Amino acid sequence: MDRQTENRRPNRLVSETSTANLRCWAEIDLAALERNLKSIRGALPDRIRYMAVVKADAYGHGMQQTVARLMHAGVDMFAVANVLEAVNIREIGTGWPIIVLGATLANEESYLFEYDLIPTVSTVEEVERLNANAKQREKTLKVHIKIDTGMGRLGIWHEYADSLFDAMRAASHLELDGIYTHFAAADRDPEFTRMQRSLFAGAIAKIDWIELDDLLIHADNSAGITTFAPNSIYNAVRIGLLQFGITPYPSSMLGKAETTPIFRFKSRVGIVKTLPEGATISYGRTRRLERDSQIAIVCAGYGDGVPLPLSNRGEVLIHGQRCPILGKITMDQTIVDVTDLRKPAQSGDVVTLIGEQDGGEIPLEEFSEWARTISWEVLCSVTKRVTRIYRTDMKTG
Ligand SMILES: *Cc1c(COP(=O)(O)O)cnc(C)c1O
Repeated sequence: MDRQTENRRPNRLVSETSTANLRCWAEIDLAALERNLKSIRGALPDRIRYMAVVKADAYGHGMQQTVARLMHAGVDMFAVANVLEAVNIREIGTGWPIIVLGATLANEESYLFEYDLIPTVSTVEEVERLNANAKQREKTLKVHIKIDTGMGRLGIWHEYADSLFDAMRAASHLELDGIYTHFAAADRDPEFTRMQRSLFAGAIAKIDWIELDDLLIHADNSAGITTFAPNSIYNAVRIGLLQFGITPYPSSMLGKAETTPIFRFKSRVGIVKTLPEGATISYGRTRRLERDSQIAIVCAGYGDGVPLPLSNRGEVLIHGQRCPILGKITMDQTIVDVTDLRKPAQSGDVVTLIGEQDGGEIPLEEFSEWARTISWEVLCSVTKRVTRIYRTDMKTG
């Protein structure tokens, strides 16, 4: 695909694959992804450019299909963690700027030139190294400078930004294309976020050798846009989780950007059996049955990405009804209590671990709490064994 043909629908990606032969799979609703993107854009001023963050295989949704759909849906640019992810995007389509958010190692630099990628620079050393490389190739390389305003990860600490600006100004073969910072607590601490915004604005104010209008200026991740000020210095956002329909912070903060989850995690009942009161369950015998029980053995375990902390804690949906997980999650199988199901469980029944089923729902956020982790990590932890099925219009169930 190239950018000129973005209106043509990538039909081959609309998989009709049946799930009948699968025992553990993820369903990804690409139409909902597109609606989410439009909703987020609608909540932002028109001039704001949309950078889709699709690192880590598009948060586990699948780089190829997700990126193709986002290209079709009209994102302005992409951001990923490293050059290899960036190369993957470049091979899906040309014409979209791709920003590499992570540090680029010296032996990765050739990809930047070969694939027209935009690295992030945080140190004078990086500026000098990239400039020397560009000079040797007789090319000009676009870069984004990152300012650390309180995250303590990449970026130059805001008070030392002058040294990086000086190096940048002196770099004959680098072109400053953008400048950004990253919020450390946008989901929980608006005050700290506002302070980060003001430190960032202070650093940018020192750029006097080029027109700020020519630069991409960005800070907002998903949670950031909850405190986004429309008439501010920013002209781009970097959205990851929110475009996948997940809002692990008060949704009231989000204003107009209404999104729906695009990800469902499913498996099947292997067998159903009866166990008597007093039987103990799974490795370590961490659960003892207090009644005669109907038990279903589900064909998914931590080898598929069902986190171990869901042991004796999580629930799954069968026929739309919640069934508690009993005992420890094992590598390939999970034991659930189906005694209270109104309609008895049978081998082959669909089990929903994340998402909606027949009027019931297990939101990713709740699943993440059971797992004592964050939604980002849950999505990244669904393993390769789990087939991703792409749909354009997901029905409940
Ligand atoms: C991952 C990442 C984002 C996107 O964050 P979300 O919370 O998923 O929207 C934005 N910027 C940087 C630098 C990131 O690493």
